[in-house]
Amino acid sequence: MSGPGPSGCLFCRIVRGEVPAKVLDQDERLLVFEDVRPQAPVHFLVIPKEHFGSLDDVPGDREALLGAILLRAREIAHRKGLAGRGYRIVANTGPEAGQSVFHIHFHVLGGRGLGWPPG
Ligand code: AMP
Repeated sequence: MSGPGPSGCLFCRIVRGEVPAKVLDQDERLLVFEDVRPQAPVHFLVIPKEHFGSLDDVPGDREALLGAILLRAREIAHRKGLAGRGYRIVANTGPEAGQSVFHIHFHVLGGRGLGWPPG
């Protein structure tokens, strides 16, 4: 789905500038912004501007979009000083993963030791 996105979707509203966010980077396809409740010294989100409810809703022919998200996550993580230190990329998908915002997003976390396995 392209265009303005669902009116009730929080992250579509951030994309449209209706809800404020600390934007770190953007282009025509992607938006990168700080998580409002950071779980680590570095915690930002990478989203496509196009609305998909979760990873499960992305069509199988969108490899380029998903690849661009990972490369942008890496780029901004490095910009945040995490090159060589390490960072974690997480896409909570569905109820048992604890997804709470239903616009696909990739968390990028770092700046401290991250435990494994996650909760
Ligand atoms: P998840 O639980 O994986 O769906 O992650 C949703 C994330 O969105 C959480 O880490 C929230 O802190 C974050 N979040 C919710 N509202 C906002 C907002 N207005 N701006 C930035 N991040 C947000």
